Amino acid sequence: MRYLSTRGEAPPVLADAALRAGVAPDGGLYMPEALPRFSPADFSDTPDLPGLAARLLAPFFAGTPIQGAMADICADAFNFPCPRVRPDRAETAPDILELFHGPTGAFKDFGARFLFRAFSALGQSSDRATTVLVATSGDTGGAVGCAAEGVAGTRAVILFPAGRISAFQEHQLCCWDSPVDAARIEGDFDACQALVKAAFADPDLSRRHNLTSANSISIGRFLPQMTYWARAALDVHAQTGEAPGLIIPTGNLGNAFAAVLARACGLPIGPIVLATNANTTLADWFRSGRYQGRPSIATLANAMDVGAPSNFERLAALAGGQIEAVISVDDAHIRARMKTCFNESAYIACPHTATALEAFHQLDPALRQARRWIVGATAHPGKFADTVQAAINHPVALPPALEAVLDRPVQCHDIAPDKRALANLLARIAEPA
Ligand SMILES: *Cc1c(COP(=O)(O)O)cnc(C)c1O
Repeated sequence: MRYLSTRGEAPPVLADAALRAGVAPDGGLYMPEALPRFSPADFSDTPDLPGLAARLLAPFFAGTPIQGAMADICADAFNFPCPRVRPDRAETAPDILELFHGPTGAFKDFGARFLFRAFSALGQSSDRATTVLVATSGDTGGAVGCAAEGVAGTRAVILFPAGRISAFQEHQLCCWDSPVDAARIEGDFDACQALVKAAFADPDLSRRHNLTSANSISIGRFLPQMTYWARAALDVHAQTGEAPGLIIPTGNLGNAFAAVLARACGLPIGPIVLATNANTTLADWFRSGRYQGRPSIATLANAMDVGAPSNFERLAALAGGQIEAVISVDDAHIRARMKTCFNESAYIACPHTATALEAFHQLDPALRQARRWIVGATAHPGKFADTVQAAINHPVALPPALEAVLDRPVQCHDIAPDKRALANLLARIAEPA
């Protein structure tokens, strides 16, 4: 399977090169040249998620060492459940697909765990370990740190802004053992991102540490996200004979693009609805046909505070990538939906999940009643306990896996927001005293 850049100015590469490069050299995003074609019958003997994942993903990694290791990678990466629940028993109520039962309580565990195991299967491309460098203001860094812990041949360095994330989030970035290092930057999230970009743009630094990225444009992160949509759609299809619609809480469009791609590969997925917070870039594009990225604004569903979704270029490039609707939900409606949902069905939704539940209720009733719908639940509500408790007026507990994180000791490096400080840190980490 070859990958082409969305901008068409870069040579085609196999998945291993696309994985190592992150972004294509022409600045575009890598897309599979042709899609494998599946039918539901192809998965009749893979009732579990890892088995389905290995079959669905193998063609995307054809010609690389990852293909042969796929069954082991998937068994190891997807070792937690993703149940589909129906807290509201009404006939027309949606299913909720809980994607937050991984070790860091958000769906990003699927992509991050797969990515690091894929790197590991590739082995080292030189005598130096690969260094995955990420800037984070939330869920990604925790998932990346957790996924990298104990993996051989790949280091993870996580940059985060001092004083701008919650105490729990900071703990979740700084509690991972070797080969993971967290660096607290005296600056905001944009300063962290600028620092990562500057490091990648420095050929010497980049080569010396084999720098690579783990952000949501990596094919190693969004491809594995096809698997749980495929699993849920196949299960509903087997029960009802129809292709369910999906409602997906959306920020950078990684999760939703994976669903669109799974449908394009023949999985029984019906209409796909994007639910965003008050960042209206995608809703405006859907209405006007014109795409205009802009700075993000802060909302209660903060993991979706994105003004220029980085995977938009992929959606635009995919023939058959139709979206049914984009529904933008403001903070007042997110709060109200958390409360109504809890009052009516005792179900506690995180703000991102509540955004999608609200979008479901705002859908055209005829569309809503025409089929089964699945709402993606992207984070455990305990990760956003302050926001959720204030909305529902009821305590919210952390699940045991996240409680365990709080018992771990923390450690991080404090550095200034400049490239020299980062280069020094990378050198120190590479050659520990
Ligand atoms: C990252 C994240 C999202 C947004 O996912 P994208 O792939 O960026 O669209 C939604 N909810 C939660 C909890 C997240 O962590």
